[in-house]
Amino acid sequence: MRRADVLIVGGGGAGCSAALFLARRGVRVTLLERGLVGSQATGVNYGGVRQQGRDPAGIPLAIKSRALWSRLPELIGTDAEFDPCGHLKLARSEADEAELLRWNRVAAEYGLVTQMIGRNAIREAHPYFGDQVVAGSLLAEDGSANPRLLSPALARAARDAGAEILEHHAVSAAAHDGSDFVIEAAGATFAAPWLLNCAGYWGGTLSEKFGEPVPIAPLHPNMLVTEPLPYFLRHSLGVVGGGIYMRQIARGNVIFGGGRGSAVKDPSRTRPSAEAALGSMEAATALVPRLAGAMVIRSWSGTDGTFADGFPVLGPSRTTPGLIHAFGFCGEGFQLGPGVGQVLSELVMDGRTDVPLEAFDIGRFARQDTGGMASTARQEEGETA
Ligand SMILES: Cc1cc2nc3c(=O)[nH]c(=O)nc-3n(C[C@H](O)[C@H](O)[C@H](O)COP(=O)(O)OP(=O)(O)OC[C@H]3O[C@@H](n4cnc5c(N)ncnc54)[C@H](O)[C@@H]3O)c2cc1C
Repeated sequence: MRRADVLIVGGGGAGCSAALFLARRGVRVTLLERGLVGSQATGVNYGGVRQQGRDPAGIPLAIKSRALWSRLPELIGTDAEFDPCGHLKLARSEADEAELLRWNRVAAEYGLVTQMIGRNAIREAHPYFGDQVVAGSLLAEDGSANPRLLSPALARAARDAGAEILEHHAVSAAAHDGSDFVIEAAGATFAAPWLLNCAGYWGGTLSEKFGEPVPIAPLHPNMLVTEPLPYFLRHSLGVVGGGIYMRQIARGNVIFGGGRGSAVKDPSRTRPSAEAALGSMEAATALVPRLAGAMVIRSWSGTDGTFADGFPVLGPSRTTPGLIHAFGFCGEGFQLGPGVGQVLSELVMDGRTDVPLEAFDIGRFARQDTGGMASTARQEEGETA
C-alpha cells in the first residue's frame, strides 16, 4: 500500500494544477493518470483563454484563473505560449449587438473591462471582416495559449515541488475504507484521506463509485487548422450564439472550430467530422472572406464532459467526506484549469475558497435543480472556445 495525503485522479489541467498548488504547500500528493498528462481535453483543445461570454456564475472562477495565466512563467517555468491577444466577440445582427451590451453590463459588475466596437470602427480596424459583421466586443485581457504545453509543464513543476505524477496508471477500483480512500491503479494500491476527482469526462464514472451518479455527456468539438498565412488576425474571434471561432498563431496558421466530431468506440478516442469541417469552413469564410483560398492541413476533435445546465461539477462530494470533484467543464475548462487547481488546494488546506461554487454543486442533480442560464444555448449552438 502506497500512502499519500492527497490522491488525484486525472492529469489534465485541473488535476496537474491541483498537484502543483498542493505540493507547493508541502502536501504529499500522488496523481494517477491513465495515459499521459494532457492527453485528453486539456491537450487537444482550441486554446482559448476566454472570460468573455461566460455565465455570471462562472465569472469569479474565470477571473481567478486568468490571474494565474499571467503568472505561469513564475509558477511553471513557461508561459505555455499564453498570449493576451484579446477575445473579440462579433455581432451579426442588432439582436447580437444587444446581447453583447447585456453581457458587458453584467461583466462590469465583476470588474471585467470590455470595449464595444461599432460598425464603422470595426470595419476600419478589421478590414478583413465580411459584410455580416456589424459590431464587436473586445475583452482585451483574454487570449489564447498552446494546449499541448500546459499540462506537461504543470506536471513538471508539480514534480519539482515534490508531487508524485504517475502516468499509465488507470484507476480500476476506488473505495473508502472508513478512514482512507483506497485506489487500485496499474497493479498497485494507493491510500490517502483525500481524493480529488479530476477525471474529465470520466469523472462521472468515479463519482458513481461513491454513490453520486451524474447526467454527464461527452462533448467533441470539431477543430481545424490552415496552412500558415500572412499574419493578420490579432484577436481570438468568436460570434454571438457560437458556431464558429478562430485565432491565428504567430507562425501564421489559423486554428478554427465549429460543429462536432465523434467518439471512436469509446470517448477517449475521437474523430473529426467532414460535415462539421465543411460547415465551419463556410462559416469562417463568411466571417473572414480572405480565408476562402486557405488550405486546411489538419482536423481533430477531443472529449470533454458536459452537463445540460452548462456548469461543471466542482466542490465537495455530498456522500463522502474528503472527496472533492472537479470535472465536466462543458467545453470551457482550459482557461479554468490553473484556477480550478488552486481552488482544490484551498478546499483541502483551508476548507474554503473565495470563489462561489454553489452553481457547480454535485447535489444539484439529486435536487433535479439544473438552473443554468445562457450556457445550455451556448453549447447547443457550438460555442466552446
Ligand atoms: C476540441 C476541444 C476544444 C476545446 N476548446 C476550449 C477552449 O478553447 N477554451 C477552453 O477554456 N476550453 C476548451 N475546451 C474544454 C477544455 O479543454 C476542458 O474543459 C478542459 O481541458 C478539461 O480539463 P480536465 O482536467 O477537467 O480534463 P482532461 O484534460 O480531459 O483530463 C482528465 C484526465 O483524466 C484521465 N482519466 C480519466 N479516467 C481516468 C482513470 N480511471 N484513471 C486515471 N486517469 C483517468 C484522462 O486520461 C485525462 O487525461 C475544449 C475541449 C475540446 C475537447
